[in-house]
Amino acid sequence: MSTQFVYRFGGEKAEGDVSMKSLLGGKGAGLAEMSNLGLPVPPGFTITTPACVHFFTNEEQWPDTLWSDSLEGLKHIEAITGKVFGDPENPLLVSVRSGAPVSMPGMMDTVLNLGLNDITVEGLAARSGNARFAYDSYRRFITMFGDVVLGIHYTRFARVTDQVRQGKEESKLSVDELKILIKELKAVIEEGHGSFPEHPEDQLRLAISAVFRSFNTPRARYYRKSQDIPDDTGTAVNIQAMVFGNMGDTSATGVCFTRDPKNGEKLFFGEWLPNAQGEDVVAGTHTPGPLTGDQKGAEGTPLSEAMPTIFGELDVIQKTLEAHFKDMQDIEFTVEDNQLYLLQTRTGKRTPAAAVQIAVDMVNEGLITPDEALGRIDPASLEMVLRPMLDPDAKRKVIARGLDASPGAATGRVVFHSDEAQELAERGENVILVRMETSPEDIQGMTVSTGILTSRGGQTSHAAVVARGMGRPCVVGCSEIAVDYARALFYAGDTVVRRGDWITIDGGTGEIMEGKVPTIAPPTDSGAMAQLLGWADEKARLEVRANADNGSDAARARSLGAVGIGLCRTEHMFFQPDALRAMRQMILAKDDRTRLRALNEILPIQRESFCEIFRAMDGLPVTVRLLDPPLHEFLPDRAEDVNSVAQDLGVRTDVLTERLKELHEMNPMMGHRGCRIGVTAPEIYQTQVRAIFEAACQLTREGVTVIPEVMIPLVATDAELRICREYAVNIAEEVMTEQGTTIDYRVGTMIELPRAALLAKEIAKHADFFSFGTNDLTQMTYGFSRDDMGKFLTPYLGAGILSDSPLAKFDIEGVGQLVQMGTERGRHSNARLKVGVCGEHGGDPKGVGFFHRSGLDYVSCSPFRVPVARLAAAHAALGLL
Ligand code: ADP
Ligand code: MG
Ligand code: MG
Repeated sequence: MSTQFVYRFGGEKAEGDVSMKSLLGGKGAGLAEMSNLGLPVPPGFTITTPACVHFFTNEEQWPDTLWSDSLEGLKHIEAITGKVFGDPENPLLVSVRSGAPVSMPGMMDTVLNLGLNDITVEGLAARSGNARFAYDSYRRFITMFGDVVLGIHYTRFARVTDQVRQGKEESKLSVDELKILIKELKAVIEEGHGSFPEHPEDQLRLAISAVFRSFNTPRARYYRKSQDIPDDTGTAVNIQAMVFGNMGDTSATGVCFTRDPKNGEKLFFGEWLPNAQGEDVVAGTHTPGPLTGDQKGAEGTPLSEAMPTIFGELDVIQKTLEAHFKDMQDIEFTVEDNQLYLLQTRTGKRTPAAAVQIAVDMVNEGLITPDEALGRIDPASLEMVLRPMLDPDAKRKVIARGLDASPGAATGRVVFHSDEAQELAERGENVILVRMETSPEDIQGMTVSTGILTSRGGQTSHAAVVARGMGRPCVVGCSEIAVDYARALFYAGDTVVRRGDWITIDGGTGEIMEGKVPTIAPPTDSGAMAQLLGWADEKARLEVRANADNGSDAARARSLGAVGIGLCRTEHMFFQPDALRAMRQMILAKDDRTRLRALNEILPIQRESFCEIFRAMDGLPVTVRLLDPPLHEFLPDRAEDVNSVAQDLGVRTDVLTERLKELHEMNPMMGHRGCRIGVTAPEIYQTQVRAIFEAACQLTREGVTVIPEVMIPLVATDAELRICREYAVNIAEEVMTEQGTTIDYRVGTMIELPRAALLAKEIAKHADFFSFGTNDLTQMTYGFSRDDMGKFLTPYLGAGILSDSPLAKFDIEGVGQLVQMGTERGRHSNARLKVGVCGEHGGDPKGVGFFHRSGLDYVSCSPFRVPVARLAAAHAALGLL
């Protein structure tokens, strides 16, 4: 038996249906399904995707039976329409339409009005009694055929069209003018190609091959690559009887969505044009009108007024289609002389915000289940929903592009230094901090900025990581700008932007724009989002905590659904101006007394910070990581700052310089940091533990429920943890006795060195919990640091050595083994060990899926990622990740 390469549809039935997308392509399957539903679909047939694959694997030869089957298909169309292909009296015209299994809007080609030539055009004119329409269709056909099939650039046709129409609209051209135009268009073809194929069967054969070929154009391949669409499917080809929206004022064409694709509102939404063919609406050459008067911001007469009966029919059909497909549909229709036809239906593309609204509404309407709704939303897209975004209709002048480090739009005045940012911010101004790169010293400036722009660095640079953590829009690595600190300006091509000028950045696209571009608020508190995430929490097994270092971040995390803090970094507390000064005094202290005095100054500052966080997290656990970075990070590193700091501290410059030399490290990431400080200078951790428990006792008396978890960083041996734990517990008990209060607390460790994962069995004997610090664990496992990886990451990605930065996408293959091993070995010796993940990977959906499968208890990520992680945890439980 030979393979069936042709499937028919039309006449209220079809050989295919919607389940056959891989064979018939999305468009073909949709046309078949609509025919089966008895909707008015012009008849036609679909050439299957295997025919296209055959074409590519056999030097552009067609399968043997394809042409004869296509001629049979034409007979089927002729039988239903009563028209005949190539007939001089009553010619059948068809469209030849591409349609791959996964839709690639605008990427492939379609030819309309095929079957016209100098003879059939006269038949069409006579039969329709509308010569203008017939010649209009003919000039459209020649142009599309020349462009799509013969490969003559469409601008050459556009040029002669402009010459002939002389400013008139095409729809206003007379028959004689159209005839002149047709002559000119044919002349273009003769110049470019030789001759125009007059015979309709030749036209059809050439057009089908051209549509096959359009699957493999560079732009189609690029699109598939960027969207992760497989390359080997081929496209189907749909040959379908033409219906004519360009037959005069009783004809029209349009596109509609069953709900608003921008915000998901349940509002029939779309655009239409009278007296036009399909491509006119999309091409943007004519301004279409709205479907109904309810459409905001639309101009022109609504279809509901111009053609009320047709509108009524269409409205019934769109409801039928949505109910049938159980999802928002994007529908093409054409009206030929007061007859409505459907030409396409597919799942409509929508913004992330609309996706949430639509999925939730559909559950409430009883169309789909909550599990289906959860499955329809891409967890990563929630991040976009929660950020302010540029008004898509606003004008903008893009002056440069960089890397899209942290999504969201921000508008503000340009500043170049952290302290300028603070000055302006204190006056209530919005600022964009523009730097070549940022460092920990810039934290405060970054904190007060509405957006951050750097000319250097990659997706994992300091600026990018910190901005994402803060949920601050950020563009990094924008090499198109040249920053000149001395003159307080930057160049972007010809544009000079000075300190105080307004710019807008879009962290979702990497675009830098001149001036203020208006933004619109995302529906953060939208009831739909809350409902969706409620369902997610019911499904999920993994708990989601947040990484937050202060009370307001903690409160935000909680409002976004975090059920605890999985990582509270304490170094930021030392960077507060008063604390920083005391910290520096402590580091420079020559004797224990001075050192303790300095630490005693730090104690109340930290206690206050802990109080804020504990209060915000009343009733929920808070994991506090004791000091992690090496001490030299708290001292100035620029020569010009050393003088002023020395003066401020009342020490001699050479004393400070000397100490700086002592503290200097070749490789700070592997230096004297984490529990290594805890072991060699216990007073610092002891002070921190005291601050934690004093805060906890104080709040407990006020009626707040505090569940502190003390976390020791960078442990490599069980002895390190044993030592730190012992004195932490001693201090905790001491404080509780002093204050006459008991607190439910835990002491545990971060697993961020491969050795810790290997020796987890020993380490777990001293730990109530493990938290995998996957940022450092990844760097230590790969043996590279995020600050230096920028130099080789791009070539590595290009050569396919890495498919993503392992700091952005969790390395399941490699680092994943350490997580699994650490969890298993740890629980082996401590069955009650709680295990979580902190680090950006806690908000990476694939990572979350893996952590779920590995039996972890929770993930912790930046506050803005909490909704992402909650949904990802539900996807994991549903087996979707
Ligand atoms: P795309 O995938 O780029 O939308 P289509 O194959 O859907 O390409 O066709 C482009 C335009 O031509 C659409 O507006 C479509 O509705 C219209 N069109 C396609 N086939 C026909 C037809 N048989 N009769 C009338 N209009 C058609
Ligand atoms: Mg289409
Ligand atoms: Mg770390």
